Amino acid sequence: MPDRIESNSRKLLRRLRDTMAEDRAGQARLDLITHLIADSIGTEVCSIYLFRDAETLELCATEGLKKEAVHQTRMKLGEGLVGRVGRTGQIVNTADAPSTKGFRYMPETGEEIYSSFLGVPVQRLGETLGVLVVQSKEAREYSGDEVYALEVVAMVLAEMTELGAFVGDNSAAMTARHKQPVLIRGTCGQEGAATGHVWLHEPRVVVTNPVADDPEKELVRLGEAVEKLRVSVDQMLEGAQMGDAEQLEVLEAYRMFANSKGWMRRMEEDIGRGLSAEAAVEKEQSAARARMSQVTDAYLRDRLHDLDDLSNRLLRILTGQGRDTGAEMPPDPILIARNIGPAELLDYGRKLKGIVLEEGSVGSHAAIVARALAIPLVVHAERITTEALNGDPIMVDGDQGIVHLRPEDTVSAAFRDKIAMQAEAQKRYASIRDVPATTLCGETIALHMNAGLMADLPSLEGSGAEGVGLFRTELQFLVRNQMPRRSELSALYSRVLDAAKGRRVVFRTLDIGSDKVLPYMKPNDEPNPALGWRAIRVGLDKPGILRMQLQALLRAANGRPLTVMFPFVAEYSEYRAARDEMDKAIERERILGHKVPEVIEVGAMLETPSLAFAPRAFFEEVQFLSIGGNDLKQFFFAADRENERVRRRYDTLNTSFMNFLEGIVGISTATDTSLSFCGEDAGRPIEAICLAAIGFRMLSMRPASVGPVKHMLRRVDLRAVRAVIDAERRKGSETVRPAVMAYLAGLEQA
Ligand code: PEP
Ligand code: MG
Repeated sequence: MPDRIESNSRKLLRRLRDTMAEDRAGQARLDLITHLIADSIGTEVCSIYLFRDAETLELCATEGLKKEAVHQTRMKLGEGLVGRVGRTGQIVNTADAPSTKGFRYMPETGEEIYSSFLGVPVQRLGETLGVLVVQSKEAREYSGDEVYALEVVAMVLAEMTELGAFVGDNSAAMTARHKQPVLIRGTCGQEGAATGHVWLHEPRVVVTNPVADDPEKELVRLGEAVEKLRVSVDQMLEGAQMGDAEQLEVLEAYRMFANSKGWMRRMEEDIGRGLSAEAAVEKEQSAARARMSQVTDAYLRDRLHDLDDLSNRLLRILTGQGRDTGAEMPPDPILIARNIGPAELLDYGRKLKGIVLEEGSVGSHAAIVARALAIPLVVHAERITTEALNGDPIMVDGDQGIVHLRPEDTVSAAFRDKIAMQAEAQKRYASIRDVPATTLCGETIALHMNAGLMADLPSLEGSGAEGVGLFRTELQFLVRNQMPRRSELSALYSRVLDAAKGRRVVFRTLDIGSDKVLPYMKPNDEPNPALGWRAIRVGLDKPGILRMQLQALLRAANGRPLTVMFPFVAEYSEYRAARDEMDKAIERERILGHKVPEVIEVGAMLETPSLAFAPRAFFEEVQFLSIGGNDLKQFFFAADRENERVRRRYDTLNTSFMNFLEGIVGISTATDTSLSFCGEDAGRPIEAICLAAIGFRMLSMRPASVGPVKHMLRRVDLRAVRAVIDAERRKGSETVRPAVMAYLAGLEQA
């Protein structure tokens, strides 16, 4: 019996494959397929249901049920036995369908006379595309072999669906899954709108022939590919850094999978049933992905991820497809990736029009680089890597964190209008580029820009910023695989100063730790890294790097004015100690006979509430202060800036935070200390006018924000904004935002 089924199954797969080669319309092909399956498995009914939209399955072809029901019978996910298979991705096998829980009677199909029911999901890479059903009058459960045979057929059907074999009808369900429009809601990583075409960082492997011509040959191909895979994993293990226990553990688990007999046996069985080697790998991968969505244990999920990764490698070996396929980037490429490192992103550079990441985070290095390059970015875009295909039209709305994949015409039109409006606004900003940010009441606010890469520097001309208010030096450390040398750093800082053409550049010393982990430094397992060993704490405890960096800065200046700022200073003594390092570095340079800048400014970032309450002597001593609002706010509200659940919970324009900031303005003014604000909020027009209204006269922001902030500042009277804020304080309002927005709306109408 198994033998008969096996040869039948192989024969069936070959006949299915032949239908692909024949010149038939999608519907005719599906009809023939249901006939072939019913005939081969020996059941009275075979039906194929495909997704019409994410929630609805539609009967697309049947052998045995009433033909009038085709494209008429639909069920919601979870509805009836078919809907249950669609929702759970699990097989339903019953001898008595009408009395099975969840059964729903569909009179138009005439199915009431069939007692037994076997439904299997049509899945590709863990994604359910439809449901394949066989039914018979005889009340019996289908055997394990029959179930398995139908699963293999479903796998081939999935590949055929993916290849668009059933397209050509006007039913939405028959349109290939990857041809339908998809809207994905993620999180905003960098504002801006972009339209272009998908460029997959890791292209999907396309299996063009899911059916084996010669199983013996396929077994040999699989064996050879697995051997290559094992060798490459062994090489990875040899090359792994000894001593890095975590990395070794991961690789060992990898090796275990690559050598797993069960994995190999299942794939060989699939080939025995008639699948090609790559289809067999995909079938196993699909099963692992389906399990992944059900497993809650983090360790097990990681291991299933490993298996997924290994399957991808194996598929690349088998098909010769992969990253270096030689495919040309489409025009206006929009990068799609699960995640990407900062160095890889920099390699793409400004070629990209937009970036969409399935994972990623707002504060990740990739996000920092995307911001530096001013490329719209959406993170946490669920399923984007499975939905998108290379070359698909795509629109990225970085402001809302929305992605339109293969958008419909109306969406495209609306989106293009949005881009046109933004271009219009850009023109407006360009026209005020060379005028100061002077308010209606005559106050001028100095607008500077934040930077961290050489790629940022051209924006200094284009944005109209007066200088660089924050140069995040850690980015240069983060985008490398090893610690940069002093000479490299010095050359780079020198180029930054050259590009600034005499404008002030505030170099912030290395701010690592917390979310910024250097790939070549041993990671520190800390229970709470944001409150841990980071920034100046690392600099003072391990002064080697700090000294090297200060020396590189002094050499780069080569006599030109130099401004240095220490990050994350929590108390006066830390500033003193850092300042001491600077003084010693200057002294050393003098002794060595190097040119030392005549003007050196040394300041601190105020990022912890404690520093706001430092002794007056600190404010008198420090040459300037810059508020790192991103960190200061997270500590003020005790709300992690990296945690999506809480990071937007408290408004920057909350009256308590305004009161706190105003206190810092007060002590700075009293001690004649220059003060600026360089967190992300400085670049938001409404926040910016409120900061100016409570006394800030210098703001530093991403380059793209300089225009919008200046435009807004030039339209307001800070005394009026101040009056609005004060009125809200008196009322006891939690935030001043609605009132300030109402004031701005009034200006609009005037
Ligand atoms: C800040 O904390 O506001 C800041 C500017 O520093 P970073 O975002 O680099 O931590
Ligand atoms: Mg900070």
